[in-house]
Amino acid sequence: MDFEFSAQTQDLQKRLSAFMDEYVYPAEKDHANELAANTAAGKRWTPLQTLEKLKEKARAQGLWNLFLPVDSAEHAGYPGGGLSNLEYAPLAEIMGRVSWSSEIFNCSAPDTGNMETIARYGNEEHKARWLKPLLEGRIRSAFAMTEPAVASSDATNIETRIERQGGAYLINGRKWWISGASDPRCKILITMGKTDPSAPKHAQQSMILVPADTQGVEIIRALNVFGYDDAPHGHAEVCFTNVRVPISNILLGEGRGFEIAQGRLGPGRIHHCMRLIGLAERALELMCKRTLTRVAFGKTIAQQTVTQERIAQARCQIDMARLLTLKAAWLMDVAGNKAAKTEIAMIKVVAPNMALQVLDWAIQAHGGGGVSDDFPLAAAWAGARTLRFADGPDEVHRNAIAKWELGKYTAAPALRDTPVPVTRGC
Ligand SMILES: Cc1cc2nc3c(=O)[nH]c(=O)nc-3n(C[C@H](O)[C@H](O)[C@H](O)COP(=O)(O)OP(=O)(O)OC[C@H]3O[C@@H](n4cnc5c(N)ncnc54)[C@H](O)[C@@H]3O)c2cc1C
Repeated sequence: MDFEFSAQTQDLQKRLSAFMDEYVYPAEKDHANELAANTAAGKRWTPLQTLEKLKEKARAQGLWNLFLPVDSAEHAGYPGGGLSNLEYAPLAEIMGRVSWSSEIFNCSAPDTGNMETIARYGNEEHKARWLKPLLEGRIRSAFAMTEPAVASSDATNIETRIERQGGAYLINGRKWWISGASDPRCKILITMGKTDPSAPKHAQQSMILVPADTQGVEIIRALNVFGYDDAPHGHAEVCFTNVRVPISNILLGEGRGFEIAQGRLGPGRIHHCMRLIGLAERALELMCKRTLTRVAFGKTIAQQTVTQERIAQARCQIDMARLLTLKAAWLMDVAGNKAAKTEIAMIKVVAPNMALQVLDWAIQAHGGGGVSDDFPLAAAWAGARTLRFADGPDEVHRNAIAKWELGKYTAAPALRDTPVPVTRGC
């Protein structure tokens, strides 16, 4: 087994790390200060110029759309990074070291997932009108599935109605936790809902493109995560009241919502998990640097064996999560998403829990400073905590892993053929 990355990946790792060192880490204070200034000026939900300027530099250096896998780029008819999932994974890790940096490279959720969805399942008109400006970073998008009224970890519960009326579809429903919908650059929402409640369970749902400025689309409020609203991107509650869009806005056709969600599952999870691994690596780095410089009871905190235990455990857990995630990416490349379904579910359980543990140790090692915004740890922990249910709760993925495991030793189809949980969120 060859653990060395391709020459192209190694070159991109070097260039991306150099870009992070030269521009991104030094911009963390500017990012916070600009957001504070915008807030004071009453324009908190305004795109940050700190990021917009860095996007131009990243694009000029060819560090743009690296996420778009070779096969999706072929579907799209637009160039991506020309990388496989395995080749892009370590780049997502580097971007994940700063929670907002992947946007600089046009590689942030939910746009990456939405671009791939339109690339694979959109028609030529969809691609020209929405995919092209998304790939150029001129607009942003959202994925609207989760609803406050139902347990959305089971996507068959989604109640939003998409009703055919002549040459249009009428959409009525209420969604929440829709990442990016509050962003003024959000121009399109891929919306999931029921076109036929009487159809078989997994054929009731469809996905449809809803332009954000369509009459009846209303942003109700921005939700926050432990007090963080992730402005100017955010997560919104959105109401759809008699929203009318042309029948041509449906993706693939009526009743194919689950098919699209399943077909689209893999890459986004690799990205999430590799970003979490990057976050945990940064937390471990900050923990080491902090404990080597803080002296208490006559010795540095790093000399305390409990600190050394935690640092060692963190190193072990990070590397285990990385190897499992890279294996999932490799398996997707060589055998397809379906063959990698167990690994994809496993990393969705392992990576967030690992990151939360490492971040918690790093926060503890920083004392009171660890829960303040003087360090990136508190916000990172809040973000990582959401990934224990965003894109599907741990329990749902563990259920699936266990059923697939039991399915190896029984002919019972209920166990052997357990479907991949569709819980795509952000
Ligand atoms: C920051 C953030 C961003 C998000 N972005 C998006 C987005 O862009 N688009 C979008 O559509 N959604 C988004 N979501 C929503 C997310 O995908 C859902 O919260 C998630 O799918 C869980 O659904 P729910 O909140 O309805 O929980 P519920 O379905 O009500 O589940 C609640 C709890 O029940 C337990 N549970 C559920 N099923 C089982 C089971 N089989 N066995 C045991 N226990 C179980 C789990 O503990 C689960 O956490 C986001 C959420 C957050 C926090």
